[in-house]
Amino acid sequence: MAGRRIAVIGGGLSGLAAAHRLIELTGEAASVETTLFEASPRLGGIVGTLQIGDYLVDTGADSFLTNKPGAVGLCKRLGLEHRLVATDPRYRGAHVLYDGRPVRVPDGFQLVSPSAVWPMVTTPLLSPWGKLRMLMECLVPRGHFADESLAHFVRRRLGREALDRLVQPLVGGIYTSDPEKLSMAATIPRFLEMEAEYGSLIRAAFAQKKRDKQAASKPSDTTSSGARYGLFAALAGGMEELAAALRSRVEAGCRVRKETPVISIHATNDAANNGRTGYRISLKNAPDEDFDAVIVATTAHQASRLLSGLNVTMSSELQGIEYASSAIVVSAHKLSNVRHPLNSFGLVVPHCERRRILATSFSSRKFPVRAPADSVLMRTFVGGAMQPELYDLEDDQLKQLVSEELRDIFGVQGAPEFALVVRYPRAMPQYHVGHLDRVARIDAQASLHPGLAFAGNALRGVGVPDAISSGESAAESVLK
Ligand SMILES: Cc1cc2nc3c(=O)[nH]c(=O)nc-3n(C[C@H](O)[C@H](O)[C@H](O)COP(=O)(O)OP(=O)(O)OC[C@H]3O[C@@H](n4cnc5c(N)ncnc54)[C@H](O)[C@@H]3O)c2cc1C
Repeated sequence: MAGRRIAVIGGGLSGLAAAHRLIELTGEAASVETTLFEASPRLGGIVGTLQIGDYLVDTGADSFLTNKPGAVGLCKRLGLEHRLVATDPRYRGAHVLYDGRPVRVPDGFQLVSPSAVWPMVTTPLLSPWGKLRMLMECLVPRGHFADESLAHFVRRRLGREALDRLVQPLVGGIYTSDPEKLSMAATIPRFLEMEAEYGSLIRAAFAQKKRDKQAASKPSDTTSSGARYGLFAALAGGMEELAAALRSRVEAGCRVRKETPVISIHATNDAANNGRTGYRISLKNAPDEDFDAVIVATTAHQASRLLSGLNVTMSSELQGIEYASSAIVVSAHKLSNVRHPLNSFGLVVPHCERRRILATSFSSRKFPVRAPADSVLMRTFVGGAMQPELYDLEDDQLKQLVSEELRDIFGVQGAPEFALVVRYPRAMPQYHVGHLDRVARIDAQASLHPGLAFAGNALRGVGVPDAISSGESAAESVLK
């Protein structure tokens, strides 16, 4: 490992996590020099937080799952554990739009799976036949499919109404995706595992409840992050706090080159490098640089461009991963101007409702300090894979559209305290059916290039914890 030079390309959360892990693992070792290249003037990528008057506005991700280790584990190692905040239990739950009106998602309904019978029987979201069909899930035989779409899985197990009225909007609210294309195995494999093990999602959910009850009757495990924070956590100062802590460690521990876009990566096989394969990185505005190892922590489409001269097959596989674009319209309102009590974390909108928004998150219901007590901070998502044409509207048109939808759905009156539009062009990867096979093909090609690793949310999970874990694994793999 003597005199190794490692490049990390991309300074979003995954690239920062990779560089940070390299620093953690190599410490002060002068024998490893890490350089982080970031195209923009700022490290942090698509996460960020703005303070607007008394409002704390996360412009991208606003929270993360605690049952995956990536984000909570990193926060602890960065000394941010005391800054983690749980969601407000008073408002836990979500609404789904039904016939133009917000209706509560039945208690115990978890993304694809009902775990309580009575709320399903009494919900106004499904017709009597829809409810019966859903409860008949226990009788549906196990499926045996190599890979199957979310829509296929849900129609098969729970029926079409459950798909249209509940699962499509709930999953679409996260992945902004078309359920007919989204791969179950790549996106939410745990429901396939539930089916495989118990033969039924409902039976699996009941078995899990029983286990939870038994666990609750034992002395509590205070080290469990899920128990301490709930399913989601955030940082008291917003996601920027995580980016800032990473930034300061990374800037202190490695060479950081901002505003330095990488344009290509080529292999070198240099006698001066003891015959070891290495990589030459071409930069847009500076001379080329040589490295022993490279971590590519960009979107798949950007990685595809960078790697087209190194491996055409890998580059075209990366290019084949589709992305959706979405915009968030952030708006702040006096509660006295809102007719609806907004008594949940937000609303998801089924495609069959034919509205122009995907979901609205009530940020200050999830995390109360994000807005003054007499106000609410809302983040409304527009576009995604199902309504790409809306992403192309001008900012003012988006604000107008959202204001009309919020007025119709929640009775939001008058002008907002402020409204702003944040755009995420081609930022959300779509794990379509066949995604896992594609990932295996990319891995096979990458294995031909020792010292090359990928980080980011393109391959193995789209959320913040996944992005962080991918960066850390990439760092560990290039040090091997
Ligand atoms: C609208 C939206 C909301 C989300 N909400 C949540 C949420 O609430 N919870 C959650 O867990 N996840 C959420 N996510 C997902 C999460 O934000 C991402 O998975 C994560 O931030 C991705 O980080 P990244 O570093 O992989 O990518 P990015 O943040 O995209 O970083 C990539 C970096 O690479 C740089 N770069 C690109 N090309 C080059 C080049 N050629 N040379 C040098 N640098 C380059 C870019 O400038 C950028 O800084 C959300 C995503 C979106 C789009």
